[in-house]
Amino acid sequence: MKQYLYLTSPIPPSVNHYTAYRAIIKCGKPLGIVYKTKESVAYQADFKKAVIKAVEEQGWETDLDNPRHFYVDADFYMDKKHKDCNNLWKCLLDAVTETQRVWSDDDIVCERVNKIVYDSDNPRVELYIHYVDYIGIFDNEAQLEEFKTNNCIGCKRYKRNCTLLKNAIDGRVQEEIDGVCCTKKSQTAQG
Ligand code: SF4
Repeated sequence: MKQYLYLTSPIPPSVNHYTAYRAIIKCGKPLGIVYKTKESVAYQADFKKAVIKAVEEQGWETDLDNPRHFYVDADFYMDKKHKDCNNLWKCLLDAVTETQRVWSDDDIVCERVNKIVYDSDNPRVELYIHYVDYIGIFDNEAQLEEFKTNNCIGCKRYKRNCTLLKNAIDGRVQEEIDGVCCTKKSQTAQG
């Protein structure tokens, strides 16, 4: 069954306020180091607690080994106009990652803005997290199964843990596979 995790976050610090630079001298040479601002540290500490609470209350099953990607659908309730919501993702997604209760890394997250409205009394971001339908280059599980039935079953490489198929499921685009046909099938079938 498809599972959803609902989260509400305050408006996070934008990328411009997420981190800052400080110059230090190391081995006699100036070096720039990046650090999180106080605002970011405070936001992430609070939001991480909210994420963990939501995971537990909503019975979200954490599976950090699952390579499936996630959609994060977001409704932005901004405090005022002319704020760019695209600058607000980084600090928010990093906080979810740091909990290690939803995904292992946000490089498997497809973030999507559903709407932007304005609520100065209660600015927030409402998030709906769920697994994507696609599996690698295939649109969904049904298309993957159809591909295997039409191409792989009977192919010698299939029983040998075919690298082409593994790569396709891993999302790697290859000229031999277009999601419907595999040009290597006939060659392998002939041995
Ligand atoms: S070579 Fe093509 S048809 Fe054969 S198992 Fe691999 S992906 Fe499937």
